[in-house]
Amino acid sequence: MKILVINSGSSSIKFQLLQMEDESVLASGLVERIGEEEGFLKCTFMPGTADEKVAKIAEPIADHNKGMLLAVNLLSDAQYGVLAGKDDIGVIGHRVVHGGEDFHQPTVITDEIMAAIEKNILLAPLHNPANMDGIRVAQELFPGVPQVAVFDTAFHQTIPAHAYHYALPYELYEKQRIRRYGFHGTSHKYVAGECAVLMGKPLNELNIISIHLGNGCSMAAIKNGESVDTSMGLTPLEGLVMGTRSGDIDPAVHAFLACNCNMDIKAIDSMLNKDSGLKGLCGLNDMRDIHAAIDEGNERAKLALDVQTYRNKKYIGAYMAALGRVDAIIFTAGIGENDNIVRARTIEGLEGFGIEMDLKANEQRSKKATLLSSAASRVQIWCIPTNEELAIAREAQELVKA
Ligand code: ADP
Repeated sequence: MKILVINSGSSSIKFQLLQMEDESVLASGLVERIGEEEGFLKCTFMPGTADEKVAKIAEPIADHNKGMLLAVNLLSDAQYGVLAGKDDIGVIGHRVVHGGEDFHQPTVITDEIMAAIEKNILLAPLHNPANMDGIRVAQELFPGVPQVAVFDTAFHQTIPAHAYHYALPYELYEKQRIRRYGFHGTSHKYVAGECAVLMGKPLNELNIISIHLGNGCSMAAIKNGESVDTSMGLTPLEGLVMGTRSGDIDPAVHAFLACNCNMDIKAIDSMLNKDSGLKGLCGLNDMRDIHAAIDEGNERAKLALDVQTYRNKKYIGAYMAALGRVDAIIFTAGIGENDNIVRARTIEGLEGFGIEMDLKANEQRSKKATLLSSAASRVQIWCIPTNEELAIAREAQELVKA
């Protein structure tokens, strides 16, 4: 079966076509700058193989409909030979960011499901409308093909009440649904599953701390295979220090800025999301640039690295307490998979807790899952590449088979 995975953003559409028999990627593409003067589409066919081919289109792409149509025409183009026609696709899997409390599992999309996703726009005003655009366009282009929504929040719906409640007036939860939801669920679930396979143990017998460090960063405490706590909250702003997002701050910072710095709530929100985190501390938000700056003696860049890795460490401690016993720690996503310095700094000093890194193994670069802990470490430390597209495709396939 071939599955198309769509991750639709406000001005972009990421797509991937997978052959599920061997889980190989037939095509992987990105439509960018939708609605802008000049749009751009890049698609790589048979990536990483001897038959790899790249197609690029630069032209105005007025809306998601046009973007998706261009992508589908490319995928069906005989010269690439990956798709015989629209009927060649068995299922379409969509990434949907916020499922609120309505979705604990991936779901086949119906009108009622669309209404429920729409209801959750209030909780993810930037993401859910863009995800819905992607779904509507795919429904139009592929009538009759089942469409499945896979929610970023779903994996975290097992978090117990004592961990998802904020200590706020209870009616804010009842009336406004203000609580911790958590994100990156598809990624945390995927790497935890891979880790269980690598360790040769059933996932439901493992306690894992999963650390997703990309532009967005989050950590999850996974007990017997289920999420019991995570660092992101009502929105993806809470928790770890991210590229441009602050993560945890004293909530009174809002009032202070409003009273003393003449900032309104929109400006504060924008600053916390777009101009804080690593970028706020040192002006750089890409970890590669931060290391280069540190090498040149940039003290602020060093501070940014210190603040991020200290926060990581603090959360590991918190989740060790939440879990009681930890079998494995996983690093994943752009920084987690590639940055041995961030990994080493995050783990250093945890030896007393039975967490010890093999620094040589940590320095080796690999695109494959790698064991990073020393033989003496009680807790295994893994670097496991995440693959949200494959995770979505697997979930979608399982659902339509069932
Ligand atoms: P997203 O959260 O947008 O999916 P990624 O998981 O791709 O992002 O992570 C992107 C980030 O990963 C970049 O901003 C950069 O900081 C970091 N990164 C990517 N490659 C490397 C590398 N080789 N070394 C250090 N950091 C890297």
